[in-house]
Amino acid sequence: MVGIPFVEVRDLHRTYGPLAVLRGLSFELQTGEVLGLLGPNGAGKTTTLQILSGALTPSSGRVSIGGKDLIAEPRACKLLLGYLPEHPPLYPELTVDEYLGFCARLRQLRRAQVPAAVERVREQCGLEDTGRRLIGNLSKGFQQRVGIAQAIIHSPPLVILDEPTVGLDPIQIREIRRLIRELAGEHSIILSTHILAEAQAVCDRVQIINRGQIMLSETVDRVTGGRPGGSVQVAFEAPPGINEIEAISGIESVESLGSGRFRLRCIPNSGAREQLLSESLGKRWGLCELTPERHSLEEVFVRLIAGEEEPAALLEPRA
Ligand code: ATP
Repeated sequence: MVGIPFVEVRDLHRTYGPLAVLRGLSFELQTGEVLGLLGPNGAGKTTTLQILSGALTPSSGRVSIGGKDLIAEPRACKLLLGYLPEHPPLYPELTVDEYLGFCARLRQLRRAQVPAAVERVREQCGLEDTGRRLIGNLSKGFQQRVGIAQAIIHSPPLVILDEPTVGLDPIQIREIRRLIRELAGEHSIILSTHILAEAQAVCDRVQIINRGQIMLSETVDRVTGGRPGGSVQVAFEAPPGINEIEAISGIESVESLGSGRFRLRCIPNSGAREQLLSESLGKRWGLCELTPERHSLEEVFVRLIAGEEEPAALLEPRA
């Protein structure tokens, strides 16, 4: 996705006394994009989101939202965003409708616009039957939906979600992820999460932060794309010897994984796979699987954070 970025963050720093929590973060968020912030505990994700939402001032650096500077024009910027903090700001003694109506007024909707806005977000967030229920009596998942509903009550172009599915059961997690994907059409979304499968499922791009610095910023497709070197796994019903596979041109190395399975490293664009297919047919090896190996986001995350690998080493070179 390319275009004019809706959010631009430049050289963001934040310190707490002697502790440097953010150390020069720069990134962009495109219109309609879902960006996931990943990182170990204390990496600086919540601090970043608090600054983006206007709740915390950076020590230095610049944030612009919709072309407006967040420090110079905080009110104008805050109208462009909705924020679900780590602990949703809910009032348990209010009903869902009372609370959402209150949030709508805080977000400067005119009184006459409030009922329609409340109805819209209740529908979007699956809260249709809960309008008259007390928030304090709702399950955690439904309270989280109310938290998301307040973040989008004024239809902001930017939605900031801090760990939106934390503490939810697997069914609720699926529903909140579906909701985030649905919102993505109209809104730019930035979210933090510890669940890597979640980032893989809902984000267009992920940014791995460690100790206040960005280690990797890449599309999910590219992070989880093929392993460098065109590594594939194959399985045969009548497996040949390793030396027979090694003899095929374009195959660099062969590793046996047992039970007729092998991991092959192929020279890119060498035609090795086609050659393997024709050898297997001719010699009746019974090729029953040929799968390009892919990284999981978890594997990339762990290797980067452990310092085992440089980001470039984990990605396929760009065409
Ligand atoms: P987690 O995944 O655990 O939520 P995080 O990546 O969101 O972590 P932050 O909450 O941004 O991390 O915190 C980054 C660092 O800043 C931590 O070391 C935290 O203890 C510290 N920190 C955050 N807020 C304050 C504060 N008000 N005063 C002092 N230190 C703080």
